[in-house]
Amino acid sequence: MSSRVSVVIIFYNAAAFIREAIDSVRDQRFREFELLLVDDGSTDSSTRIAKEYEARDPERVRYLDHPGHLNRGMSAARNLGVSAARGEFIAFIDADDRWRPSKLEEQVALLDRMPQVHAVGGSVNYWASHNGGEDRIVPTGHVRDRVIPPGQATLQFYPLGKANAPSMSDLLFRRSAILAVGGFEERFRGAYEDQAFLAKLYLNSALFVTNTVWSDYRLHENSCMARLSQAGGYHETRRAFLEWFERYLAARGDSNPKIAAALAQALRPYRPKGLIEQARALLRETSAGSVVRTAKAAARRLRPIVAPGPAILMYHRIADETFDPWGLAVSPRNFEDQLNWVKRHRTALPLAEFVERNRQGTLPRDAIAVTFDDGYACSAQKGMPVLEQLGIPATIFLPSELVERGDEFWWDKLERIVMDSSSPKLELNGIEIVLGAQSEDADWPPAKEPRTPRQRAYHRLWSMLYEQPLEIDQALERLRVQAGVTDVPRETHRPLTRNEILATRSGLIEFGSHALTHPSLPKIGPEERARQIRESFSACADLTGDRPYAFAYPYGDHDADSQRLVEEAGFRCACKADGWFVRPRTNRFALPRIFVGNWDSVRLARQLGRP
Ligand SMILES: [Zn+2]
Repeated sequence: MSSRVSVVIIFYNAAAFIREAIDSVRDQRFREFELLLVDDGSTDSSTRIAKEYEARDPERVRYLDHPGHLNRGMSAARNLGVSAARGEFIAFIDADDRWRPSKLEEQVALLDRMPQVHAVGGSVNYWASHNGGEDRIVPTGHVRDRVIPPGQATLQFYPLGKANAPSMSDLLFRRSAILAVGGFEERFRGAYEDQAFLAKLYLNSALFVTNTVWSDYRLHENSCMARLSQAGGYHETRRAFLEWFERYLAARGDSNPKIAAALAQALRPYRPKGLIEQARALLRETSAGSVVRTAKAAARRLRPIVAPGPAILMYHRIADETFDPWGLAVSPRNFEDQLNWVKRHRTALPLAEFVERNRQGTLPRDAIAVTFDDGYACSAQKGMPVLEQLGIPATIFLPSELVERGDEFWWDKLERIVMDSSSPKLELNGIEIVLGAQSEDADWPPAKEPRTPRQRAYHRLWSMLYEQPLEIDQALERLRVQAGVTDVPRETHRPLTRNEILATRSGLIEFGSHALTHPSLPKIGPEERARQIRESFSACADLTGDRPYAFAYPYGDHDADSQRLVEEAGFRCACKADGWFVRPRTNRFALPRIFVGNWDSVRLARQLGRP
């Protein structure tokens, strides 16, 4: 069979979607392709599914994995696919995305017509309708239907420019263009892997993007808590990428002054003027013997340093916790250390004053507002004495119905159900989830991949439940009965009681709303969304005795409709769960917050920009 195109699907535990992706490739009108299924060490049934496709059509389909079935990350998996590809062109499609039937036919025709172009792509459908959301067509790049010469996309496309970068699932490349830049950068794992590859490609290749929609890019927020727990690391990874790119340009002797200037500007927040020169001077002056020591000290001083800006901090639990996949817990000790630093180096304001002064243009650059989500009792018991003692104001966001109920939050209940289950398997939505025996399950540090079978089961069930916000209670109860565990709330995980709320309320501590039952607002119907927002205003007022000023979107998930409803309900501002500094023109109903992890004050200072 002649294969002009090698299609590469990389996958890792993608059983839920991979058939749809593969079928959308098999349904292409263009027939001269081979399909490489690259398994990045899956432990679910996607391995079997992929092998079945290979067995059914061995002429066209090949299954590949790393030696020892290792999980080596997206870049290494893509490189494995590229090394096995035989086609003149290569296309990638992620295992949860989908192609339209004309994709290869029309893209191959474009590359055939324009031999000077190395890669083509279209606009991308951000696909939310697969679970009831609204699709959105997102155009790629700053110009369409014009050849973009080498180097131009570097300046215009994200991450150095402002135009949308193409989706890896949408581009068709000449294989020679991928080989010319040495493939994917395996050092990037979890972030910037595609951007690092594309950054190299942009410098060397001509691109062509159109308005045609050839692919559906599946939006699913089941990674949103993970995203949240990584939000604190955003600037560290961005800086690592920019510095890698700087070294890459230097190594290839690139001297395009515009690119150098754009890169310098992107790096500026991480390198305040003067300090680098200072460190260099320091290095020049030292004797050879102490160079290494001094270089290390200088490197420490130069680690991400950003210019300070006003910021809203987001906390959840104050607790010593070993099971913390979402990074919700900050130890009492670190919390005290962090807040002492805030007291010494920042201006802590109540959220309402923070927002009003930002509107008036009088917000100090070093302003901080402290917030807590979910109303965990531990945050009040352990956190409030510290705040009171330091005189630092804070806002606690309450999901009023859950607080009234007094149960643990569903993600905590799920932890107990899965980890303590006496049954070796659980069933949800007709799917059997194997738990196996208990092992080192309780040790799960923030933002780490699940390690034990039960941790993987937790992850899977969490994603399934998150996708069906209105059925969580019934589903959890069925799981709990199967697992044979108790539903008495743990003292360490329970929400505040009404009496505790009234006792906590003070001139310093105020309360905001976190919806009624903490659903992902974009995932529920418009009527329920309106109810969750509107009724939470009065429910929060009933519970706390005060009209709430602020709203926090559960999981940080929000869309235009929830934003409008929050505004109409009488709230004066609303917080997201990601982002960084608040800017003068930041929309007060989409305020960014900085996720605070279980860090000491040095790390917090780095995130917030010293001094
Ligand atoms: Zn929450």
